[in-house]
Parts: sequence; C-alpha cells; structure tokens
Amino acid sequence: MLSVSKGIFHALAASKGMKSLASKYGLRTDRSFARRFVAGESVADAIAAARRIEAAGMMQTLDYLGESVATMAEADRATRAYLATINEIAAAGIGRNLSLKLTQLGLTVDRATCVDNLRRILDGAAPHEFFVRIDMEDSRYTQVTFDIFETLWQQGYRNAGIAVQSYLPRTLADVKRMNALGARVRLVKGAYREPRRVAYQSKPQVDASFIEIMRVLLTDGTSPAIATHDPAMIDATLAFARERDIPQGHYEFQMLYGVRRDLQTQLAAQGYGMRVYIPFGQEWFPYFMRRLGERPANVGFLVRSLLRESSD
Ligand SMILES: Cc1cc2nc3c(=O)[nH]c(=O)nc-3n(C[C@H](O)[C@H](O)[C@H](O)COP(=O)(O)OP(=O)(O)OC[C@H]3O[C@@H](n4cnc5c(N)ncnc54)[C@H](O)[C@@H]3O)c2cc1C
Repeated sequence: MLSVSKGIFHALAASKGMKSLASKYGLRTDRSFARRFVAGESVADAIAAARRIEAAGMMQTLDYLGESVATMAEADRATRAYLATINEIAAAGIGRNLSLKLTQLGLTVDRATCVDNLRRILDGAAPHEFFVRIDMEDSRYTQVTFDIFETLWQQGYRNAGIAVQSYLPRTLADVKRMNALGARVRLVKGAYREPRRVAYQSKPQVDASFIEIMRVLLTDGTSPAIATHDPAMIDATLAFARERDIPQGHYEFQMLYGVRRDLQTQLAAQGYGMRVYIPFGQEWFPYFMRRLGERPANVGFLVRSLLRESSD
C-alpha cells in the first residue's frame, strides 16, 4: 500500500499537465491548495510563517524549495537565493535554521561545483550562527550525500547536520558513524519511492527501524531531531526518554508545515522542543506531490480546492 500510493504520486509528479495546472492555481491566493503545505513563493512569505510558528512557542527551519537542477547556472541561482535568504532571516531576527538539498546545488550536474556551492552557503551562514540541515534525497544520492557531509565535517564545518531515513537498512550504520563524529542528525522515515533491494517496503519494518535508530540517537547522538507525525513513533520516543531519564532539552521533534498542527502545538505546550519545517519558493510541485503521496486522503482536499479555484 505504501509503495502503491507513492508510485501513483511519483507518476503524477512527472506529469507536465498536472504540473502546469497546479502551478497556475497552487499558491494563487491565501486559500489556494498548496498553501496548506507551502508558506508561499517569497522569503517574506516564509518569514511571516516563521513568525507565526515562533509566536506559538515553536521553532522553525526554512527550506527554499528546489531540487534536481539541470545546469550550473540554476545551481548558482539557488546558492545565491540561499545566501540572500540568510541575510533576510538575520535581518528579520527570527530563528536561524535552514534546510537544503544537494541536488538543488548541482549535485547531478557537477559534484565539485555542488560542494563549492554548499561551502559558500555554510561560509555565509556561519557568521550569523545559522544551522544548515542537509535533507536526504532518494537512494541514488545517499552515499554521495554522506561523502560530501563528512568531507566538509573533516574540513571543520560544524554548522551543518544531515537527515537520515529509517526505510533504508543501511541507516543504522550511518547513524552510528554520525554519532561518533558528534554530528547532528534528523531522523525521518523517508519520502521517496525506493526499490525493494535498497529499502524496507512495509510500514512495520520502516517503523521498527525508526524506533531502533531513535534509541541510538537519543542515547549517543548530538541534539538529535525526531521528525515524524506518527503518534506511535512519538510515543515510543517519549517512553524511551522517560525510561532512560533523557532530558527534554537533549532532543527535539520536527514536523512539516501544515501537517498535524494539533500534535505540533500539543507537544510544544508540554514543553518539548518542536521545530516546524517551512518550505517556500516557486519550485513547490515535487515537494507538494510527496506530501500528497504520504496520505491519499489529501487528494480529496486537493480535488475540492481545485474545483473551488477553477470556479473562482
Ligand atoms: C521535519 C521533516 C523533515 C523531513 N525531511 C526529509 C528528508 O530530508 N528526506 C526524506 O526522505 N523525507 C523527509 N521527510 C519526510 C518523511 O520522510 C516522511 O515522508 C513524512 O514525515 C511522513 O512520515 P511520518 O513519519 O509522518 O509517518 P507516516 O507513517 O507516513 O504518517 C503517520 C501519520 O502522520 C500523518 N501524516 C503524515 N504525512 C502526512 C501528510 N503529508 N499529510 C497529512 N498527514 C500526514 C497522518 O496522520 C499519518 O497517519 C521529513 C519529514 C519531516 C517531518
């Protein structure tokens, strides 16, 4: 079931017709359907969303959307957009935390340029004390993402962390290596459609792996982030922390903008660190389709919104 629904949305995400329809209506007004998961197209939209999140007692990380760029010029544009975002966030006085993807910085075009671009961002981020999280993309990029992260770590960059996916059996070993470095890890289940030979396919396997890795992170990790909307994973985390006397401040929860807002505020009200991942920018379509694929019920909401938009 997990992979069937991801498969359908993977196909839809590749559809040009769907993309142009969605792009026309998705963020058009404050009520447009993509606004549920995406803060807007501009940095100003993202900063406004971040302020609302912080006013509600939560933290945030901003993601300037984009992935799989095809040219060095696009990778350079994305890098410059991140550098501009850093300045705007610093001027706005909100929390300083960014998330980005290496394919957005040119990983599939030229690896050395991608590393340079990442270094430019980390260098721009460091004086303002930003933390930069490298999102984990599909399994073609897992190894190279770790390689680049670990190379920069060896070069002394400490204002960066990495995301890991519990649906990959390899992740436990990767996490132990990250813990030994002292690197900050965000644990997620994994959002991509992956083949059986590299990834667990069933929810019970992905969940069991998540719990095992969560325990390793809470025990030996550096400020780990447990990023999930799954109440069973959250309960398992809270129970383990209680059992081991792990203080609340040692780890944080993370959730996506617009997903399980009830749980977000509930955990924050109980004093747990809660960081909301806020995506913004024009390239929101692949991100949005992954969110639909995670919960087929979201499609009903999309169809209703589209009907409403096109009759406006
Ligand atoms: C902060 C953060 C950063 C992430 N970064 C990455 C990354 O770098 N790489 C990566 O591969 N993945 C990333 N993800 C996505 C992640 O891999 C999952 O695809 C996503 O979080 C859904 O899994 P889940 O843990 O919430 O559990 P699931 O078992 O998928 O869902 C549990 C419950 O959460 C709710 N829910 C989950 N998703 C949705 C949704 N889209 N809409 C409405 N309700 C929903 C539903 O109630 C569902 O029953 C990130 C997720 C978060 C929260």
